[in-house]
Amino acid sequence: MNFGFVDGPALALPLGALGLIFGSFVTALSYRLPRGESIVHGRSHCPACGHMLTAPDLVPVLSWVVQKGACRHCRAKISGRYPAIEGLTMALFVAAGFLAKDLAHLILLLAMTPPMVALAVIDLEHQKLPNTLLLVLAVLAVAWRWHGDQALWVGFVAALLMGIVGLGLDAGYRAVAGKSGLGMGDTKLFALTGLALPVGAFLLFLALAATLGLAFGVIRRWLTGSSRFPFAPTILTAYWIVLAGADFFDQKLVMLSRG
Ligand SMILES: [Zn+2]
Repeated sequence: MNFGFVDGPALALPLGALGLIFGSFVTALSYRLPRGESIVHGRSHCPACGHMLTAPDLVPVLSWVVQKGACRHCRAKISGRYPAIEGLTMALFVAAGFLAKDLAHLILLLAMTPPMVALAVIDLEHQKLPNTLLLVLAVLAVAWRWHGDQALWVGFVAALLMGIVGLGLDAGYRAVAGKSGLGMGDTKLFALTGLALPVGAFLLFLALAATLGLAFGVIRRWLTGSSRFPFAPTILTAYWIVLAGADFFDQKLVMLSRG
């Protein structure tokens, strides 16, 4: 993004810091939400020794590195999920600053990123997609379309079509593999991408989702031996790239067409 007075590089530092703060929120949210724990109440504590965590324990990424991935009080190992989620959110916030085409899209993309990361993490860890997060994402997607081509009806028709495609994929996968493919959560997620996706980007989105899905599936199988296809993280990654890069892809296409 370039406002003339402030552009991508100048935004990298403040957005990186903001990304770490939101990343820290996402680690807590993605841990508590699927366990039915309150998101706003109750302070973080070490799951091993129960020690209340204070400021020095809670600096994103840095605390984990300085304390060598262990609790300061009982030395119990702290999962790498914390720095990984915080680092990922930070990287996405910085990338958003470079890619978003205007301030409204930047703000919407920054608002969509934490629920998207949380959904991907919760799906990987618990194989579910909480409706609360899907609803937040759907509302932001409608706002995104409203700020873009304003064709809300196109968004709703696209959402309906994506939902039908999702149900079709699930039925097809069931018929071929004999087990459930896209769950209802995945289908809802698939449908809500239609709310925001630019009409010209649908094929790009589907191609990207298919390619990333295969890559994720192979890597996941290699790392964890799990044969479960990571639908939601795949859909979310393709969705984020297409939304963030819409303007960037447009410019590249224009440059190519001008030879
Ligand atoms: Zn501890």
